[in-house]
Amino acid sequence: MYDSDVIIIGAGPAGLSAAIRARRVRTYNLLTSSVMVISNHPPGGLSDWTKVRMTGDGWSYEKGELIGKLMKDIDDYSIPIIEGKVQKIEREGDTYRVITDEREYRSLAVVVATGMRMTCNENEYFGLGLFGTLKGYRFMEDYFEELCEKEKGKTIVFVGTEEMEHTVGLFEKINQGRMKVKKVLDHGMNIKGYREGMYVLTEDEEISGDRILIDFESYMLKTPTSDIVQCEKDDNGFIQSDRRCKVKDGLFAAGDISGPPFSLAKAVGEGTTAGLESYRYVYRKKFGKEAPIFAFYPIHYSGEATYFEVPELKDEYRPRLLGSYDVIDGKIVFRECSLDSTEFNHRLLESCDGTRTLGEIREEMGEVDPTIRSLIDGKDLTLEV
Ligand SMILES: Cc1cc2nc3c(=O)[nH]c(=O)nc-3n(C[C@H](O)[C@H](O)[C@H](O)COP(=O)(O)OP(=O)(O)OC[C@H]3O[C@@H](n4cnc5c(N)ncnc54)[C@H](O)[C@@H]3O)c2cc1C
Repeated sequence: MYDSDVIIIGAGPAGLSAAIRARRVRTYNLLTSSVMVISNHPPGGLSDWTKVRMTGDGWSYEKGELIGKLMKDIDDYSIPIIEGKVQKIEREGDTYRVITDEREYRSLAVVVATGMRMTCNENEYFGLGLFGTLKGYRFMEDYFEELCEKEKGKTIVFVGTEEMEHTVGLFEKINQGRMKVKKVLDHGMNIKGYREGMYVLTEDEEISGDRILIDFESYMLKTPTSDIVQCEKDDNGFIQSDRRCKVKDGLFAAGDISGPPFSLAKAVGEGTTAGLESYRYVYRKKFGKEAPIFAFYPIHYSGEATYFEVPELKDEYRPRLLGSYDVIDGKIVFRECSLDSTEFNHRLLESCDGTRTLGEIREEMGEVDPTIRSLIDGKDLTLEV
């Protein structure tokens, strides 16, 4: 037994795209899968700090707009986003253990979409005392000179990995003692957030300054967010995956954590691929055959007159309801399916919590298959193994 077919780590553009694609096989007569997202921070990742461009100005989003669109689907499909810092991912038998600071979750497949750094509440202060190295060293030289002159006697706090010495070195050369310099080493888990003032809040202390500079360059040279998983990585800590985002059996990586280029279009593209591939992996694991997701993949049509895309309902499967339902005018209403609000149906829905097998439910309640099928067709129920 496990908590979700697929667990996605990180709620940036890559993680949200993966979650939607692993869950949304909506228009097909096909079984959907259970998906949950675990993120240390409200959805958005790096992408909701400013206006962002997908390919150029013609395709761009105002602050928060892109994530708003992705979150509409996350809400429509009732995909749970659980708050937590993932500390470790471990394989155990057929499942993955995803260990957070609070508890442990299990799944058949995991998508790592943790970006290059953990984000907190930087977007509240970005451009308002908090800045980042975004435009390269030539820009930094000019910017540092202007800053040191304007903020003489004040304090600047650098936040980054051990690689921030490159940027700090450049700053010190230009600074010539005009500003005081503090450094906060980010090792992936220790930064808790930022506070008016400006303060960097870490697990052990609150460090004050007048300006905070996040050294993105240092994260590109050494990311701390892949430490949670043991797998093949490049020299800078970025996870190595193939063109279908596969790292190893049941483990996928998408977005900034798979290395440069660090871009939204790549994050969304890889998230989409990782979502579909994790869905296919889970389907094969459950039913021993290829998932027929026409249009994204060829469906290997068998030619049988009885061909039906949803597999046989075996006793050992564990039905799990996905999302919630309302009762309106005596009907239990899901997104695309409604049932009569009878005591039998309520009891059946309560027993579809992923802990009981279909065999046990049948034994207790008799004929349940037509209702189970209509819930599968409406994408409101999955069968776990
Ligand atoms: C100011 C700024 C402007 C940008 N502008 C553009 C642009 O115009 N065009 C463009 O293409 N790109 C732009 N980018 C880059 C783009 O935002 C990133 O490439 C993109 O957000 C990467 O998406 P992601 O989902 O891979 O990672 P992220 O957006 O970083 O999201 C990852 C999420 O995972 C969470 N996480 C990490 N570790 C854990 C853990 N252990 N447990 C739980 N959660 C965890 C993080 O906190 C974060 O919320 C910009 C970046 C910045 C900072």
